Amino acid sequence: MTDPGFVRLRAYEHALYHCATCNYCVSASWPERGIDGVCATLRGHSPAASYSGKGYLATARALLEGEALDLASVAERAFACTTCGNCEAVCPIGMPPAAVLKALRAELADRNSAPGGAIAIRDAVLSRQNPWNAPAVQGTDWSLGLVPHPRPNLWLLPGCAAAHRQPAEARAAAQLLGVIGYDVAWSTEPTCCGAPLSALGFVDAAGTQHAALATGTPPLPRAVLGAECLAELRAAGRPATAVLELLHAALHDGRLEAAARGDSPPPAVVAVLDGCHWSKPHHGLADLDAPRLLRDILTRLGVQVAQAPAAPRYAVCCGAAGGMAQLHPASAARMAGAHLAGLDQVGALALISASPLCAGHLSVHAGGRFPVYGICEFIAAHFAVAGPEQ
Ligand code: SF4
Ligand code: SF4
Repeated sequence: MTDPGFVRLRAYEHALYHCATCNYCVSASWPERGIDGVCATLRGHSPAASYSGKGYLATARALLEGEALDLASVAERAFACTTCGNCEAVCPIGMPPAAVLKALRAELADRNSAPGGAIAIRDAVLSRQNPWNAPAVQGTDWSLGLVPHPRPNLWLLPGCAAAHRQPAEARAAAQLLGVIGYDVAWSTEPTCCGAPLSALGFVDAAGTQHAALATGTPPLPRAVLGAECLAELRAAGRPATAVLELLHAALHDGRLEAAARGDSPPPAVVAVLDGCHWSKPHHGLADLDAPRLLRDILTRLGVQVAQAPAAPRYAVCCGAAGGMAQLHPASAARMAGAHLAGLDQVGALALISASPLCAGHLSVHAGGRFPVYGICEFIAAHFAVAGPEQ
């Protein structure tokens, strides 16, 4: 007999009964497929299986079957996941534990059972348009000194992570797009796309942000820096292009030329942090093949990319996403530390990412020991660039 409630979980009811409890999402290690461990939460927060993809499926099943679980205890587990989706990427039979986890969060949010930290993030997004509760006005600091084009043909949405945590990346993106030949403009009153709210299960609040973004953005092609933002826009039926794609195309067809600067040469060997939203299929961006685009760009720039310990599709999350950094900062720091320790082993001299959220997170935890760049910021720092008319 199933509980008639929990309609969001019910959408996954069929899948919930097909988990083979094989434990791949807990501890898979399969060198031939580039799988080297799976779950950042199990590694960096709690080793209990109830914090794993398999555990979230079991919890969802129990709730649907009417088991009287303590919702505070369910919430402690459900809001300790990075939502990275590596459990889904490795599952050999296609179970959707990360999607179920998000539905579980939404069920908890509907019942006012989300933890206080998650509610604080929601309120920060709704009132200040960023999940860090930074003053809204800081969301445009990245652009100081740059002038939006008065007759733009491209609208740049840097996203909260770039605007607040990687301002050099947002700035470099606007400049590079201008060099390529786009007439770029951006909002002087940025609106969060709602991605942090969707990740936390605040579905209605995310819808509010989707509507606000739709009314506040002119009908122009949009270029987005953050993978979370692009995935959110796509899911809300609002297509956009990745800045990464535009950069890759321009380098490929000659609209952007880049030569290493003699006064600031690029590091010879770099590591790449792909970011789960770019690289794991369940986030809906797999068609872009962002890991390949990023490596192509670096190769074209003449920079050697160190071999990563795991294939991008199966890389363990760095701890930036899903609210982890705000809700469980010590755990997120352990996840970042594990990622950074791996870089020393491959001989990389810098870390490059196309994800401002991941780059901002690892930058904080690298503490100056290791340079971490967004891809646009990296090009601006180490290459002289020229566009078609220069
Ligand atoms: S969710 Fe997939 S990987 Fe995890 S235990 Fe179930 S079948 Fe195995
Ligand atoms: S989404 Fe990531 S952190 Fe969450 S259970 Fe799956 S592998 Fe672990």
